[in-house]
Amino acid sequence: IHYLISKGGSEALLQALATAARAQPPEEDTLRALLCLLARVGRRDRKFGLKVQRLEATDLILSLARKNLGHHLNLTHCLWVLRVCASSVTAGTTLGINGAMELLFKVITPYSKRHVRTVRAAIEALAALLKSKSNSRRAVNRGYLCGLLKLYQDWHDNDVSNNYIHIRRGLLICLKHITNIQLGRETFLDARGMEILFTSVQDCLSFKNLDPIVTTATQILRKCYPKEPLPVPTVGSFYSFSLPGKGSTERPCMVPEDDYESDGEEEVEKDLDDDDDDDDYDLETDVNKLMSRPLLDRPEMELKQYEAMCPELSHNFQSEEEKSLEDNTENLPSTPSYFIPSTTSMKLQNTQRTQSVTVTGPDPGEDFNVPMAEALQDVDSCEGEDMARTHGLALRSLPKEAAWYKQIFNTECETSINPSPEGRLKSSDIMRSLLKKHQGTIPFHNPCFYVSRAECVKSIPDYKFLAFPDFWGHQPPPYGKPMLERKCGVQRDRVLDDVRRFVQPSDVIGRTVFDLDEPRWVISIDPGAPDCLMFFSTFESGNLRKAIQVREFEYDLIMNADVNSDQHHQWFYFEVRDMKLAVSYRFNIINCEKLNSQFNYGMQLVMYSVKEALQGRPCWLRVGYDISYYKNHYRSCAAAAGGTRRRSYYTLAFSITFPHNDDVCYLAYHYPYTYSTMMSHLDILEQNRNPKKVYWRQQTLCQTLGGNPCPLLTITAMPESKKRDDLEEFCNRPYVFLMARVHPGESNASWVMKGTLEFLVSSDPIADLLRKCFIFKIIPMLNPDGVINGNHRCSLSGDDLNRQWLTPSSELHPTIYHSKGLLYYLRSVGRAPLVFCDYHGHSQKKNVFLYGCSIKETLWQAGCVVDTSVITEDVGYRTLPKILDKVAPAFVMNSCSFLVEKSRESTARVVAWQEMGVLRSYTMESTYCGCSHGLYKVIREMEKNEVYLLQIGLQLGTQELEEMGNKFCLGLLILHLKSLPCSKQVMAQAALLLDLEEEITDLRTHRSVIRIFRGFSCRSSCLGMHFGFSFKEMTLLVAEIFML
Ligand SMILES: [Zn+2]
Repeated sequence: IHYLISKGGSEALLQALATAARAQPPEEDTLRALLCLLARVGRRDRKFGLKVQRLEATDLILSLARKNLGHHLNLTHCLWVLRVCASSVTAGTTLGINGAMELLFKVITPYSKRHVRTVRAAIEALAALLKSKSNSRRAVNRGYLCGLLKLYQDWHDNDVSNNYIHIRRGLLICLKHITNIQLGRETFLDARGMEILFTSVQDCLSFKNLDPIVTTATQILRKCYPKEPLPVPTVGSFYSFSLPGKGSTERPCMVPEDDYESDGEEEVEKDLDDDDDDDDYDLETDVNKLMSRPLLDRPEMELKQYEAMCPELSHNFQSEEEKSLEDNTENLPSTPSYFIPSTTSMKLQNTQRTQSVTVTGPDPGEDFNVPMAEALQDVDSCEGEDMARTHGLALRSLPKEAAWYKQIFNTECETSINPSPEGRLKSSDIMRSLLKKHQGTIPFHNPCFYVSRAECVKSIPDYKFLAFPDFWGHQPPPYGKPMLERKCGVQRDRVLDDVRRFVQPSDVIGRTVFDLDEPRWVISIDPGAPDCLMFFSTFESGNLRKAIQVREFEYDLIMNADVNSDQHHQWFYFEVRDMKLAVSYRFNIINCEKLNSQFNYGMQLVMYSVKEALQGRPCWLRVGYDISYYKNHYRSCAAAAGGTRRRSYYTLAFSITFPHNDDVCYLAYHYPYTYSTMMSHLDILEQNRNPKKVYWRQQTLCQTLGGNPCPLLTITAMPESKKRDDLEEFCNRPYVFLMARVHPGESNASWVMKGTLEFLVSSDPIADLLRKCFIFKIIPMLNPDGVINGNHRCSLSGDDLNRQWLTPSSELHPTIYHSKGLLYYLRSVGRAPLVFCDYHGHSQKKNVFLYGCSIKETLWQAGCVVDTSVITEDVGYRTLPKILDKVAPAFVMNSCSFLVEKSRESTARVVAWQEMGVLRSYTMESTYCGCSHGLYKVIREMEKNEVYLLQIGLQLGTQELEEMGNKFCLGLLILHLKSLPCSKQVMAQAALLLDLEEEITDLRTHRSVIRIFRGFSCRSSCLGMHFGFSFKEMTLLVAEIFML
């Protein structure tokens, strides 16, 4: 046929048709044969419509059809040809002008089961015609939309045994095309189309073979669902922050009335959060730009201030180190002990939460003071005092069921069973009993430290409460969880449930149960509402703005936008209480923004139950079923979206059955990791390190806009002695510069950083060796304000800080300005880092991987001709990811990319590479979801002592994230051994670790044993991972790589 078409077959056939039609008397058989051929050829000929028009054959075909209205066989053939003609929009439009639709309507109405073949052909031709907007408009104006609806209903009612699915679906496709225009949607709504289609779909749901009908009907229902603004007074954040030099920012005014139907067609989509997508068209192809090194963005003399942030370069180890060495001459514990200070050992420090927020420069000279667990002091001193102190955080009240209280606290707390209206009464007693109960079994977590750190936090909402999980701590559950298997039809059912609200509005409760905009709901105690969940979120990293009960067990939730912004809702973290046991609750987060989500590909959210925690299982768990992520009917108005196009919102719908009656549970997008968690973690690390071996400095890089210190760590090995050679060796170690959490919603990055930090200060011999190889400069949280205030992406200035690296402002982006300053300083003294890595989280991809920078790969990928004699490039940037691919189970080399994109020119990775000349400059992306490759692709499940292998892939837990952080360290050591000249001493130690040749032959078997061991090992034993088997495992892996 294609040959025929290329040789002018279509034209010849059309001409033959014209001749045959003119013949008197008409040659019926010839005509039919020609029509039959034309229908076939036309389907393959992409320019058929054009050719028909050029030969002015549209009228011919139409008149043939008219002539044969009574002759159904001929008519059917005409209709097939008509359909292929209409596949070209211009030919379709001409046909429409010439009355084709009227003709077709005559054929298909009224409903009749006679001549079904002809009716079907007519419906399909009509559907093709309606692709043209002018035809759709004409059809609506002539009342055909209502006719089609009526006809659809007739077919639906009469086709009891489902023999005419094609006809029914054909009619729906007609409706689908007509409703592409706004007039069509309005008419559809007026004609009660929503009700008619929704009711018909209910009859079809139980028949699998009717899926095509249900799918098409659902598409129409979604499209016609009237668009609405979100049910909040403003899409801008509830919180605002006055930026320095800009006076007070007013809260964005009310959203102006906007015509939510004004856009005729579906919006052009644009992903708002594009951090992570790498598209070829965006590649930087300007060689000069790629190879240039921009000038300093500040006066050179400013760099001097950063000297104080590198005390290791000028240290003489004569004073306090000596003392600390002497103080710690006793044998240090080989495993960390958890020092919980008694009230007598604490120094009381006055924190001023009320002090005004000022922007100050870096405060480098002074080491950070650790406010030693003043929380306990507070608890004690609170008795008999005014509870309404300017500072002091209360724990959220616990599950209020009396019997459960007794069981947990015996009787000593009976007086505190009934919470006061503020829920704060006697919280000191509760906290005290809780602390007594806390076994201190969670590694690297201490509730006292947490409270004292949280007390110092400056937040915009001025938090009064602590979320229980952050206070109590999290322990990884003993078993990992595979990704959720995708069930068919979940999304369709969710969408239909949403449509039901429109069709049957009387079913909808529509009661607001939590609302930041209406202060009476913030405490969310409404005695008049016994059968509803209570929500709360005004605590660190929390960001619920509003909760609406839709049905008895269903809630719509709205997240708060980032501070000083009207977008970036993806992260969520909130408390929910007063649930019933064995009830499936459905939650819809209705203002998500990304186009798609891993929630559609096996990812679950996380939940923490207070009752479970107090019964010894303090775990964030992956939970939720029937999870679906889809575009909903809410839109932001054009004005709110910055005057450009309206923004679509997406719903994340999930169901949960809670583990206990009347529990207090916390739900989050991903494992929360607050600023206070980080600060208290640093306190514990500092206390547990071996000061003889580990050089540790915690300084303040700068204050954030919100007035919170941004810590900077320096970690390396103590010098062997105070001899000159050793001191020289000490300060000449190459630098590794690590950062995390510039994006507050990426809590996974913090867990990876936690793994890195714990490994770096551990007594593991590998860590010991690693410290001797490098000086680590670490900024564990680049955006403390964003994390504290529950942002997803931005800082208090409403800016994405990872887009400010080219020209950071010292006022608006202090953490970026001073991180860059420190890097400049290191470069200026000839000590630019060997490795730079910024830890992130990736919401669209699976596994863990690195982004790096390569000129050649970028140019090749963009298809540019590369003169390799001019451009020389060290391929050393590939070594570290290759190593990680071998040593880190979650890491996948194939997902790595080394392309430089224009839209990323202001990211940390590109700036460190281009301006600081760091060859190995990376972004490490960790999935929120799980692994589709590597060791965690296969997970082992044990049931009745039998092991099953599942190919679903593990969802990453905090344990796997932390493991990634410590394997990254191992990767750095191997990189050092492979790429750098090593001192004799390091070589000797490495050789010692590598003296295992006889075992290397068994490496393969050993690795598979490890995998099984990983599957079953008690995951709670974080320490075991660091100090137990991991040493041997790591050593073997070092050996493997070293021998390669
Ligand atoms: Zn990020």
